[in-house]
Amino acid sequence: MVKRRISVLGATGSIGTSTLDLLDRAGGAERFEVVALTGARNIAGLAQAARRLRAKVAVTADPARLGDLRDALAGSDVRAEAGPEALLDAAAEPADWTMSAIVGAAGLAPTMRAAANGGTLALANKESLVCAGRLLLDECARARTTLLPADSEHSAIFQCLRGERLAEVERVIITASGGPFRDFTRDQMQDVTPEEAMAHPNWDMGAAISIDSASMFNKALELIEAKYLFDLQAHQIEVLVHRQSIVHSMVGFTDGSIMAQMGPPDMRGAIGYALNYPDRPDLPVERVDFAKLATLDFAAPDPDRFPALRLAERVLAAGGLAGTVLNAAKEEAMHGFLARRVGFLSMADLVEGALDALPCEGEPGDLSSVLEMDAAARSHVREQIS
Ligand code: NDP
Ligand code: MG
Repeated sequence: MVKRRISVLGATGSIGTSTLDLLDRAGGAERFEVVALTGARNIAGLAQAARRLRAKVAVTADPARLGDLRDALAGSDVRAEAGPEALLDAAAEPADWTMSAIVGAAGLAPTMRAAANGGTLALANKESLVCAGRLLLDECARARTTLLPADSEHSAIFQCLRGERLAEVERVIITASGGPFRDFTRDQMQDVTPEEAMAHPNWDMGAAISIDSASMFNKALELIEAKYLFDLQAHQIEVLVHRQSIVHSMVGFTDGSIMAQMGPPDMRGAIGYALNYPDRPDLPVERVDFAKLATLDFAAPDPDRFPALRLAERVLAAGGLAGTVLNAAKEEAMHGFLARRVGFLSMADLVEGALDALPCEGEPGDLSSVLEMDAAARSHVREQIS
């Protein structure tokens, strides 16, 4: 049997390790030909996974860690590489299925490379679509790459749309847990710490997306992600707070019917779906016990406490490069919040200031104009913080 060639970009992160867990359970190196695994700082984790899955190449994004990676891989057949160019080369290695799970805009260029490959691109790195949605979709179409969402909400929408006609879709309803501060007043949100923001009530995720969930910037990114993935108009995308995180999202049709996809809050559901599509795998996730849950709650989000949602609407109206600015400014504001130099609510003010200051109407023509706009937004926010 020909083995399926697999690459995992961001293999040491939360999504990356969940992906590797599914690969291991499905037979690991016996079943798959693992091409490239990439990470950044977690050299021990990267080397361990690369040895276990007999990867062809392991790449750390940090060139200063090449020596450590070489040491950690000594005696194995895995090639050790480091640095941004090596990361792009690894993403460009032919693979049948690639998981894009690097965090933030750092994932954009490698994801674009993987999109040029053909095969299937499972996308967790929503920032790629937020920063360069049109470019990424065009690249996938050009290379005949199948783009599958690995974000739980978008996997839910994708599943609800199976066999349906897009022309009969009226709206999509993206659910949001509301994060750790969903019941806080604006006053209470003023002084929250990074530790409090990182403690998500339902999902176990990386640091950046946990903070984005607390501020609802994650939902802002997901609105933009949905627009590109499903070719939606801004008015067709709604957000609904659903604290149990069981309904992962819904699709409403022209006849008033609504399809919802439900499951436990475990990312292996969405990742497993993308890995096995069009089949449904047997997954080791908890089964939902509705009798125990008893209720599922829904509530409208409050844009006064979560201004990120209003900023997303602005970006949906403005187009592509505004997404680049929103994401870059948000990442820089978050660094400021983590360094305790920026208050929790001030993150949205900084993003709004960057959207006001930078000329970002319209779609980018190429990747370098996206990267330039990303850099401009970052330096704008850094200046504001200092
Ligand atoms: P993590 O922070 O847990 O992992 C990020 C991964 O990216 C790690 O492998 C990390 O390496 C690597 N990395 C960090 N910085 C760089 C860089 N500059 N260049 C290259 N690689 C880098 O993030 P998550 O797994 O939580 O999230 C990954 C992506 O998936 C994000 O886009 C997120 O929005 C999305 N996502 C995540 C969900 C979740 O449940 N976690 C749900 C839906 C989407 P190392 O750890 O070795 O430093
Ligand atoms: Mg999500």
